[in-house]
Amino acid sequence: MALLIRNCAYVVRNPTQIERDCDVLTEGSHIQAIGKDLPAPSRVEIIDGRGCVVLPGLVNAHTHLYQNLLKGISPGLTLVPWCNQVLFPSLGAMRTLMGRNGKRLAYLWTAIASIEMIRGGITSCVNMDTTSSEIMHAWVDIGFRGVLAYTLSNKWVPAELRASEDNMKQQMLDFIQNYHHPDGLTTVSVAPSTVFLCTDDFLVWAGEQAQAHDLGMQIHIAETAGEVADQVKETGRTPVEHLQHLGLLNERLSAVHVVHVNPRDIDLLAGSGAQMVHCPKSNMKLADGIAPTALLRKSGIPVSLGTDGCASNDLLDMWEEMRAALLLARVSEN
Ligand SMILES: [Zn+2]
Repeated sequence: MALLIRNCAYVVRNPTQIERDCDVLTEGSHIQAIGKDLPAPSRVEIIDGRGCVVLPGLVNAHTHLYQNLLKGISPGLTLVPWCNQVLFPSLGAMRTLMGRNGKRLAYLWTAIASIEMIRGGITSCVNMDTTSSEIMHAWVDIGFRGVLAYTLSNKWVPAELRASEDNMKQQMLDFIQNYHHPDGLTTVSVAPSTVFLCTDDFLVWAGEQAQAHDLGMQIHIAETAGEVADQVKETGRTPVEHLQHLGLLNERLSAVHVVHVNPRDIDLLAGSGAQMVHCPKSNMKLADGIAPTALLRKSGIPVSLGTDGCASNDLLDMWEEMRAALLLARVSEN
């Protein structure tokens, strides 16, 4: 079925190529033509685009969709108490519900969150989530492009909330086999949750799997001052230096938060080809601090935006995220 959007006020092909008052014709999943007064093919749906902007779909580069069920429940907490008082009990309750009702809950939280994102112009996300086939099925049913960042942790998280390490490893390999479809809507990446939630051996194994299966790797890193201080005390290295020490700083890495970094950390990230995901509203809600995004960008590190999960944001709205990123950068740069 073809779709013709007539008289769009603006068509944004990329930041430097913006056209005014023209039509867009799509057929299936492809744009067939952009121009003025395009001829309408037979069997076409026509939409009036007057007053509207047509632009590429937005990418939410980091979220946790299961937290869509946890909106508005964690005011005033910083990261560690937030994990202990909000996140872990909620995960436990969800796990119990999923045990009783099968995996339907995962389908529902994915569907609800994906529909909210589509309404806000987001067509793709990286979802660091509990892992369920139903997440992938929901994305395919809705037509949403999703990356399941397979969450790994083998310490600190309460033992009842995680599988044994051997089971986790096998389950991730099976999940990659079944749901990593680079030519389709669903792909998989490897996601050790953060340095302090994984042993060094486990982090290295995760990096080896990313390499072996040609996958991306996402990790929360340097989110709080306490995380950095603890890592330095334990290993003599900052979290970023520790990733470098383990051989995990490379172009596959998507480093989420990167709030508390020093000049050497920034040089290491810049030289590695890694990218950074900035989650300004989450950093504000959990009082993490302000990521030095201007400095990171000046150093050549690609910076993308993510909402993080709704337990530390309340919305999946990239427009709010863009505005928050801009305003926070103004605060930190002046
Ligand atoms: Zn996160």
